[in-house]
Amino acid sequence: MADVVVIGAGVFGALTTHHLSNAGARVTLVDAYGPGNSRSSSGDESRILRCGYGVDEMYSRMARQSREQWQRLDARNSSGLSLWHPCGVLWLAPEGDSYTADTRATLQRGHYPIELLDRGTLRARYPHLDASDIGTAMLEIEGGVIMARRSIQALTSELTLRGVRVTRGQVSQPSTPGRVSALQLSDGASIAGDTFVFACGAWLPSVFPELLGQRIMPTRQVVMYFGTGAGDDRFTASRMPAWIDFVSGIYGIPDLEGRGLKVGIDAHGAPFDPDTGERTVDDRSIETARAWLRRRFPTMGAAPLVESRVCQYENTASGDFLIDRHPEHENVWLVGGGSGHGFKHGPAVGEYVAGLIAGHTTPVAAFALAAKGTVQRRAVY
Ligand SMILES: Cc1cc2nc3c(=O)[nH]c(=O)nc-3n(C[C@H](O)[C@H](O)[C@H](O)COP(=O)(O)OP(=O)(O)OC[C@H]3O[C@@H](n4cnc5c(N)ncnc54)[C@H](O)[C@@H]3O)c2cc1C
Repeated sequence: MADVVVIGAGVFGALTTHHLSNAGARVTLVDAYGPGNSRSSSGDESRILRCGYGVDEMYSRMARQSREQWQRLDARNSSGLSLWHPCGVLWLAPEGDSYTADTRATLQRGHYPIELLDRGTLRARYPHLDASDIGTAMLEIEGGVIMARRSIQALTSELTLRGVRVTRGQVSQPSTPGRVSALQLSDGASIAGDTFVFACGAWLPSVFPELLGQRIMPTRQVVMYFGTGAGDDRFTASRMPAWIDFVSGIYGIPDLEGRGLKVGIDAHGAPFDPDTGERTVDDRSIETARAWLRRRFPTMGAAPLVESRVCQYENTASGDFLIDRHPEHENVWLVGGGSGHGFKHGPAVGEYVAGLIAGHTTPVAAFALAAKGTVQRRAVY
């Protein structure tokens, strides 16, 4: 795997580059808008890392493996700014929620540290959280939040210092069948290599319309930051974990670096074009978030919206990632389908892809192109 071209410097492409470079490959990393750009899913401020995935232990293991690598990246980073906040992740679920029960069993079996909190403990620990409708609360003690864009940019700077070529360009899919020796860029130039990895996130369906047009469905997703009160530190990461509220399908991140309490709506939004889609928040999303704040954190009910972002999920039908060889080009790989939960797994995905290319890793059936349907049946999230 002497010369590898990785297309897309989001979390999957950047971490694949990292692992390929560690394995001795000469890598070029090319991105249409630059690493951690504002249109990319990985270019948002922050992402939750949890290990709980229902009965699906594979993703739990990948998250644990990735966490160690995120921590190492954070330790190597000399900017003085954190890449990783070890604040824990709190699952809030209604009584008898089977997904949370399955997750608890999987995590306990795998010795992932968790703490079950009854309503009284919740109230004592987080008096500003209204838990009256919560049946199960489970804290993933080793969960936390990754500073997403900053991590991608720190990693790509590190890669550049190690001799990886990181460059700007929009790459097209191969124009002839069979083995590929070079790809065209939109400015007319070409880029040569022995192996090509397309890690283009929500752009995969437009780069490969025939193959992936129906298999990866980008949706519009909104995140909002609400300003906490002056002098109020109850929502900071030292006093508050990230949380996932299964009662309402809303998740959140504590007030990191004074940006405000982040609230995200997990339900799939409308189809979205990552190139041309406007990224202005809509009134309905703001009202949904405010209604949730009034319910869950009553003191934040009238908090001002201080920032917002529109991002996109790149959904496969089930939520399982797509990591496979292109069926018509033996030296072209497709890596994506993060489906709203991919960021945390970037390091494990990168290691897996580098292993596949080197030929010493066994492919996982769930990631195969053949396993990707065209009708949404979200099972992994
Ligand atoms: C609102 C929101 C919240 C989320 N929350 C979480 C969370 O809490 N935890 C979690 O683990 N995950 C979360 N995710 C999911 C996670 O962010 C994504 O799965 C992950 O970032 C996808 O990474 P990627 O590298 O596949 O794609 P991207 O980050 O989108 O990167 C793709 C890159 O490819 C480039 N590109 C595209 N086409 C071309 C081309 N033709 N030529 C060159 N370059 C090209 C783009 O410019 C882009 O930089 C969330 C996603 C969203 C939208």
